Amino acid sequence: MFEVKNIEDVNLAENPVIARMGQYDHEQLLFCNDNSTGLKAIIAVHNTVLGPALGGTRMWMYSNEQEALTDVLRLSRGMTYKNSISGLNLGGGKAVIIGDSHSMKSEALFRRFGKFVNSLAGKYITAEDVGVSPIDMTWVNMETPHVVGLPGKSGDPSPVTAHGVYVGMKACAKQQFGSDSLAGKKVAVQGVGHVGEYLVRALTKEGAHVFISDIYEPTLRRVAQETGATVVGLDEIYDIDMDIYAPCALGATINDETLSRLTCSIIAGAANNQLKQEDIHGRLVMEKGIIYAPDFALNAGGVINCYSEVKGLSAEWAMSKAEEIYATIGNIVRRSADERIPTYRIANKMAEERIESIGKVKLPL
Ligand code: NAD
Repeated sequence: MFEVKNIEDVNLAENPVIARMGQYDHEQLLFCNDNSTGLKAIIAVHNTVLGPALGGTRMWMYSNEQEALTDVLRLSRGMTYKNSISGLNLGGGKAVIIGDSHSMKSEALFRRFGKFVNSLAGKYITAEDVGVSPIDMTWVNMETPHVVGLPGKSGDPSPVTAHGVYVGMKACAKQQFGSDSLAGKKVAVQGVGHVGEYLVRALTKEGAHVFISDIYEPTLRRVAQETGATVVGLDEIYDIDMDIYAPCALGATINDETLSRLTCSIIAGAANNQLKQEDIHGRLVMEKGIIYAPDFALNAGGVINCYSEVKGLSAEWAMSKAEEIYATIGNIVRRSADERIPTYRIANKMAEERIESIGKVKLPL
């Protein structure tokens, strides 16, 4: 639906920005510059058929503007799919601030950014992302009401995200093993940060044998001690005997190299962009008999939590909405098996189908 079949047809040199927006049918880009605060940002609104475009603001030291533009276009489109497949009345958007989050942050910069967000009059709702904290968002909120993830509001999304990953993993188990019980299953969780730790707790509580890795030793040791999970090495995690691999740290860990090593029959984790090359590795996992739970459908608990803040809904509502990830992932993996189509493509199709059908509802009478 949002795809141009031949990207080569788009002459990037001739018309770089508008042509790139056309590649995936982006609605609007807002370039923001302010010399006095040092703000350089891009806000991308990909699609607002389902509702206002929601997606976080990332602050990153991009090496050039093209890199920032590529990132914001890719991430905002991803949000459209994530929000759609989660059944939320939200479109997809994202913002990037170009700069070093350790040295360039200031109240003035984020307030100026807030003014730009406000100029979109609610078409884009922002939240925190890599390099941006809840405190930064309070500055943005001084200039615009179109912000979520504020301190004292919906709070840390990680428990909701972890719950969605957990129930989605169970749906995969139901398809692969005939039962959704994870008791006795060997699960390797890569990264025991915010989401990973909650996931490990749920898994060990159910009686799974959990193996964990993390680059940050103190957390790794504490989680192992408190949950009984077994510590494995950073690279060793790809080689251990396991039923389920749960990437909860980095993207692109499903690639040629790891797929020749992984012995699991399910991949289900919180990390974004797990497939190094979607078209290649999404098909390869299927051909190897592995059920891959598409990341954007599985880790939607975070955005569900944001949505609860937008709509003034309770934490209980967010948890029960995340519970629906069981049914969503169940549908995806069944359709994938029936139609012999990789799960990521089924998930994309489902997201696009919802936008198309709800788009019709919104036509004037
Ligand atoms: P986090 O930063 O709290 O945790 C990530 C953990 O991974 C850290 O403990 C880090 O030390 C560890 N790590 C980094 N490199 C590693 C490596 N090579 N091997 C093993 N561990 C490594 O992040 P988080 O909030 O728990 O999110 C985890 C992933 O899930 C991220 O990819 C994030 O984008 C995604 N995600 C998170 C949420 C959420 O609600 N927090 C929502 C959707 C998606």
